[in-house]
Amino acid sequence: MKTIEDLGDLRGRRVLVRSDLNVPLDGQTITDDGRVRASLPTIKRLSDAGARVLVVAHLGRPKGTPDPAYTLKPVAERLAELLGSPVLFANDTVGAEAQRIASAMQDGQVAILENVRFNAGETSKDDDERGAFADQLAALADAFVSDGFGVVHRKQASVYDVAARLPAAVGSLVQAEVEVLERLTSSPERPYVVVLGGSKVSDKLGVIDSLIEKADSLLIGGGMVFTFLAAQGHEVGSSLLEDDQLDVVKGYIEQAAAKDVDLVLPTDIVVAPEFAADAPPTTVAADSMPSDQMGLDIGPDSAAAFADVVRSAHTVFWNGPMGVFEMDAFAVGTKAVAQALTEIDGLSVVGGGDSAAAVRQLGFADDDFGHISTGGGASLEYLEGKTLPGLAVLEGDSP
Ligand code: ADP
Ligand code: MG
Repeated sequence: MKTIEDLGDLRGRRVLVRSDLNVPLDGQTITDDGRVRASLPTIKRLSDAGARVLVVAHLGRPKGTPDPAYTLKPVAERLAELLGSPVLFANDTVGAEAQRIASAMQDGQVAILENVRFNAGETSKDDDERGAFADQLAALADAFVSDGFGVVHRKQASVYDVAARLPAAVGSLVQAEVEVLERLTSSPERPYVVVLGGSKVSDKLGVIDSLIEKADSLLIGGGMVFTFLAAQGHEVGSSLLEDDQLDVVKGYIEQAAAKDVDLVLPTDIVVAPEFAADAPPTTVAADSMPSDQMGLDIGPDSAAAFADVVRSAHTVFWNGPMGVFEMDAFAVGTKAVAQALTEIDGLSVVGGGDSAAAVRQLGFADDDFGHISTGGGASLEYLEGKTLPGLAVLEGDSP
């Protein structure tokens, strides 16, 4: 893969950078600016090299047409604060204003183009429609840098098609992400422990499939645990349950036993009568959950046991909170696992948007961990062994 150095002297050249600036917003207020911070090094580096930097990114899921609820304006403001210098903002992506800014900007200046998903061509499944939009993006710049790790698994115009139309390189964020994931997939230092949680098993089937072959221990928590407990024939009350995955999950339980992988499920669960921050929590045994309550966290014994397994590892990959960490009463399991990750002697990796938000919300610092991935879906697909279009296109010969 070509890196920024391979693009040569960038002074005076217009460089289009695909960043992942898809931050959570409460109205116009950014509630977690982790992705903006993670995008800074590449943007700064290009600007320091004298490039005219055009940042292209998406926010949320607008329907291929401008929608003020998803403007990148607040993100442009935050980026300017973090850079300590002004950031130009184009109120369109490839229209008159974007073109005017691209042709008038000075060496070293940074501009953000309006939400790329305001254009139907960005996510179109039709190659021609996507290609036509990529042509317009490519016309704004002389080179392309792919630095939005959270989107490299998407075959989209600003990720994939544009990279085939301009001299293209990988940014430092994507490079760092790929290096870490590479360490997790090829000869990880053992013991290798994988902790999976979050809401849905169906989101994580591929990664379970792939890692059940590679990990020494697989710890399961979060909402997905109830499909495992149900597959073992236990009552799970009104907990999250994916009935249609019971057979698949039974298969995993058998596969783990056959392969001698230590599949660890919680032995106790924190339950409550309803999904609410003030619902009274009770701890029960995992094999005797009351039928009228729902499981919202792993219990304290399980949290301690999970933490012990994690601490003994030299490589840990963790994706998905152990409970509903957004509510204090159900954040204990997630906190215990996060704490254990910070204590290991080896590589600890946190993947997943909610998991990253959880560790920050629970008061951990980013550098308490070996790596916090900025891309949930992308990191899972990489670990599943899938080809990521936004990376594959950078392997080819760019023009
Ligand atoms: P990530 O974004 O890190 O991949 P997911 O999106 O898979 O994680 O899942 C995160 C969500 O899972 C959180 O919002 C959390 O509240 C929820 N969750 C965790 N445990 C439970 C549970 N027992 N019941 C319902 N939701 C849960
Ligand atoms: Mg999530």
